[in-house]
Amino acid sequence: ANTHFDVIIIGAGAAGLMCAAQAGLRGRKVLLLDHAKQAGKKILISGGGRCNFTNMDVEPNNYLCSNPHFVKSALSRYTQWDFLGLIAKYNVAYHERDFGQLFCDDSAKEIVNILVSECQEAGAKIQLRTEILGIEKTDNGYNVNTNLLSYTCESLVIASGGLSMPKLGATPFGYKVAEQFGLSVLPTRAGLVPFTLHDHDKEKYQDLSGVSIPTRIESKDGTSFAADMLFTHRGLSGPVVLQISNYWLAGEAVSIDLLPNIDLTAELTQQRESHPNQSVKNTLALWLPKRFVEALIESKQITDKPLKQLDHKEFDGLIHTINHWQVKPNGTEGYRTAEVTLGGVDTDQLSSKTMECKDVKGLYFIGEVTDVTGWLGGYNFQWAWACGWAAGQSV
Ligand code: FAD
Repeated sequence: ANTHFDVIIIGAGAAGLMCAAQAGLRGRKVLLLDHAKQAGKKILISGGGRCNFTNMDVEPNNYLCSNPHFVKSALSRYTQWDFLGLIAKYNVAYHERDFGQLFCDDSAKEIVNILVSECQEAGAKIQLRTEILGIEKTDNGYNVNTNLLSYTCESLVIASGGLSMPKLGATPFGYKVAEQFGLSVLPTRAGLVPFTLHDHDKEKYQDLSGVSIPTRIESKDGTSFAADMLFTHRGLSGPVVLQISNYWLAGEAVSIDLLPNIDLTAELTQQRESHPNQSVKNTLALWLPKRFVEALIESKQITDKPLKQLDHKEFDGLIHTINHWQVKPNGTEGYRTAEVTLGGVDTDQLSSKTMECKDVKGLYFIGEVTDVTGWLGGYNFQWAWACGWAAGQSV
């Protein structure tokens, strides 16, 4: 068997598939390896099965990376409009949701089909169910040992993703390869993930499980997001919580504006004038779920009394509590349910133009294995497409 390839890519996920198709288009002989039975498994379950494949508005500040400039080059060379061009080529119907998020009308399967077709068209070979046993540097490239055969290549691309959702086949493989070649890997943690609450808080809000309210949440570093927050039986979730989880560090509190869409001072003043005998409870219940207001009263975070009895300090205190509700999560639900992994292969060691290691010729890292994490909203796939494309032009 011919076991020499110009390019071997490990990981047939979003980034690896894009890279394989691009390298193939350039006439490179490409082998894309994956241990899974299926290519693009995460794409298939993403966005509730409809894949939020990109966003109308993609900016470098939608990404977390210890070197914030790193993402600029790839994102500008392959944009959301380029990916939409691919979507148009295959006539895939899509729609826009809140915050510029783009989803397939029908199924995420269409995205996988596009990428697999592009690989086929470009002559890139996808080989699944292949265990990687080890990698060695050779004089003019790499040797990739698998449970099937041993392959050689000039350029080796690591696209094996992060640690989130081990059930879908996530492994620390990419970080181990980085370490094998002396590259540093920045500490990893679960991102875009629900918060869990301490037992005493869990009890207070247990009855609210399933209730969703619009909020604005701010992390200690001053980052904030506004969207829906969902009470769960373990803690807090919903898009706003997933977003802020990327900016939250263990032990910190988050500050939650429970009524981000109204001017509470003005509304309360008006209520006090028109209904002086109305209770704090019934007043807040105009805008918040009654059970939640009751939980806040029962846990003595706010005091229930007729509005006219609130003195200045109590009036201001009430507003402050509602606009800056402090919650200290116990932790997150971890990699089991996290959509992404923060941290990873330090981008200082990679060329931002090609994703090749500066000091290890022919070795590339792309996708989530790198220390680049996007916001919720299609940003993680856009990063995978962009850096996969960039590496595809260079390998
Ligand atoms: P992956 O897509 O994870 O691909 C890595 C590949 O490497 C996998 O095929 C895996 O089998 C393979 N692999 C791993 N280890 C080995 C090994 N040792 N040997 C061989 N092969 C290996 N992002 C969005 O932008 N929009 C969304 O709607 C969205 N929804 C999501 C929903 C969920 C539930 C999850 C978990 C994630 C979601 N994401 C979403 C994030 C997005 O899926 C990832 O950021 C993206 O898939 C990363 O692409 P990647 O190619 O780097 O890694």
